[in-house]
Amino acid sequence: MKMDYTRLEFLGFIILLQLDLSFALRREEAIAYLQKFGYLQIPLSPRAPNYRPEQLAEALRTFQKATNLPVSRRLDAATMRMMEKPRCGLEDSFNDKILRYRIMGKWKKKQLTYRVYNFASDLGEGKTRSAIQNAFTYWGEVSPLRFREIQSGKADIKISFHRKDKSCPVPFDGRGHVLAHADAPESGLIHFDADELWTEGRSSGSNLRIVAAHEVGHALGLGHSQHYSALMGPVYGGYRSNFKLHPDDIQGIQALYGKPQSSSPAAAPGGSAPDLCKVTLDAIMSGPKGQMYLFSGQFVWTRSGSVSASVSGPVLISALWKELPGGLSAAVYSPRTSKSYFIKGDKVWRYSGFRIDHGFPRRLNNLPANIDSAFYSSKHKKLVFLKGSGYWEWDEIKPGNFKSYPLQISQLFKELPVTPTPPSRGPTTRFTCSKDRKFGKSTRTSRR
Ligand SMILES: [Zn+2]
Ligand SMILES: [Zn+2]
Repeated sequence: MKMDYTRLEFLGFIILLQLDLSFALRREEAIAYLQKFGYLQIPLSPRAPNYRPEQLAEALRTFQKATNLPVSRRLDAATMRMMEKPRCGLEDSFNDKILRYRIMGKWKKKQLTYRVYNFASDLGEGKTRSAIQNAFTYWGEVSPLRFREIQSGKADIKISFHRKDKSCPVPFDGRGHVLAHADAPESGLIHFDADELWTEGRSSGSNLRIVAAHEVGHALGLGHSQHYSALMGPVYGGYRSNFKLHPDDIQGIQALYGKPQSSSPAAAPGGSAPDLCKVTLDAIMSGPKGQMYLFSGQFVWTRSGSVSASVSGPVLISALWKELPGGLSAAVYSPRTSKSYFIKGDKVWRYSGFRIDHGFPRRLNNLPANIDSAFYSSKHKKLVFLKGSGYWEWDEIKPGNFKSYPLQISQLFKELPVTPTPPSRGPTTRFTCSKDRKFGKSTRTSRR
């Protein structure tokens, strides 16, 4: 009996030792990760650094925040899994002050050449070159930058694939984890890990077009974004068939190089970009964080909520909300459910952020077609739809009976002394533009 008990105890000891050892190993790996990607400072002394628990907790907090994980400040399973995901080789160097795009440098010229020196073995020359070309197109569509491929001579941006060898001063790590890295302007170096399985059109492997678009972002001067879903986020987001740039990516590149010229295909398909001061607005939507979206025809302008009220755009509506048509009847964002609703004719599109919700667009059941406008009433916590002199209120969470509607608009505005979100008026709203291009309230409203 005594023997067995001792053996059991011994076994328990071994298991504990192994658990401890694997945790210590994980901790060491995590520290190496946090050092490599800029979350922990590497001390100057050659001795193994001994980080204080609060230093580690802070580094983990920043990493968890940047990668959209629950902030536990601990090395939990989700954090370990995130550290194993494929990612870019550049540092993140985030701090609390910079939450959006970061800038690493800038090219002085706007016409840039690029050259692809060798190719992804699984894709071959043709598919490698078209993936790279598409990667440049994303940035060219939203900026005045122009890119041209050359096949000999010195290019501005130099693209090549490297193995785990000495051909790059920062050698790659074989398949998985670090996929690629790039230098800031005006170096123009972009390196891909040749040991990755580079693919196109499927979710296995790493999508060369999307990873290349990220690295081109670096070569053009953008650092890592703390918007986890932005292209410039540090962790590879995986293959998406409908991939497009995040508004944060667009704001970043436009902060560096400005908006696309009117001949750009993104700004104006077959015509010049309209002037916000001259167009008739179809709808206005107060989005999250004080952002305001102004819709006219196929285009949308964005006004940030800051005091300076800078307006950016226009971009095609479909560049932000892919499935959404132009010529909207109304648009409204609900702070209660964080959903955006867009109405055109007798249909409604509902979005979570910039992603369409399943089952949409749908036909409007209880509302007339071609409503004039919509807004969110924070007092009633309801969406309010206006047409003619009537209005309808709709509770998103407990949809009620529409039979008592429409009610008279005059009644509504008697009840709502101040509407915090300006109603997006009907199809003939204009913005008044003063000389410094600040935008006043809508002045004229007439109804069809
Ligand atoms: Zn990167
Ligand atoms: Zn390299």
